[in-house]
Amino acid sequence: MQVIFVGAGPGDPELLTVKARRLLENCRVCIYAGSLVSPQVVALVADNAELYDSAAMTLEEMEQVFVDARRRELDVIRLHTGDPSIYGAIREQMNVLDKHGIAYTVVPGVSSFQAAAATLKCELTAPEIAQTIILGRTSGRTPLPPEQELAELARTRATLCLFLSVHKLEEVCAELAGFYGENCPAAVVYRASWPDEVAISATLATLAKQVMQAGIQRTAMIIVGPALARDIPVSRLYHRHFSHGYRAAREGS
Ligand code: SAH
Repeated sequence: MQVIFVGAGPGDPELLTVKARRLLENCRVCIYAGSLVSPQVVALVADNAELYDSAAMTLEEMEQVFVDARRRELDVIRLHTGDPSIYGAIREQMNVLDKHGIAYTVVPGVSSFQAAAATLKCELTAPEIAQTIILGRTSGRTPLPPEQELAELARTRATLCLFLSVHKLEEVCAELAGFYGENCPAAVVYRASWPDEVAISATLATLAKQVMQAGIQRTAMIIVGPALARDIPVSRLYHRHFSHGYRAAREGS
């Protein structure tokens, strides 16, 4: 018996891994994050499986499900939105499993920052401009370590992907403008890959107003950085005068 932490991906069931899909279709006990995992993904869970929505559960109640499943020798699928390793709160569940000597594995998933980048058709990295991507958030009920406050992240001028922060967008844009400039491209993608997805591309000066007008308050990814602009230096990787380990440069102009 084991518990399998499974990444549900950002929403579109076709963005599940083949492994995740197989596990869902064959599962007997599933705890899923009802506030975020898309109903289309939950619908793939086998019809006769026991389904628990973690949104309404405490850690002790999950512990009970794990222990009970072990008694019946049934695997448990613990379904997390996106990739379980990012704001997944899996550590405390693993600690509980360790306490009981219950084995567990993790199946990664497509994260919402990747789905949002796909929706925006952007490359998060750009030569000479952004060679680092930061996955972060603003402080909420979970405080941030001081050295990871937004201003500290912004100092790097890396591409920022902010989770759990769209409700503070106005504050975020105002603060970031001090580092990136108010004309820096900035975007919000609400429910990337869901049927009701909304994407808004703007600048740090104009984004907050547009997002407010669209009524977006949750389940959205904020992406900010000069890499999002169209008129930036591009990579020379495929340039005919550029040689690398797999291809020699070609002569002539
Ligand atoms: N583990 C998840 C993140 C969980 S934290 C992942 O890898 O994506 C929850 C936050 O993720 C939300 O507040 C929102 O910022 C983001 N998020 C989750 N699903 C999303 C989606 N489909 N589109 C945009 N943002 C999403």
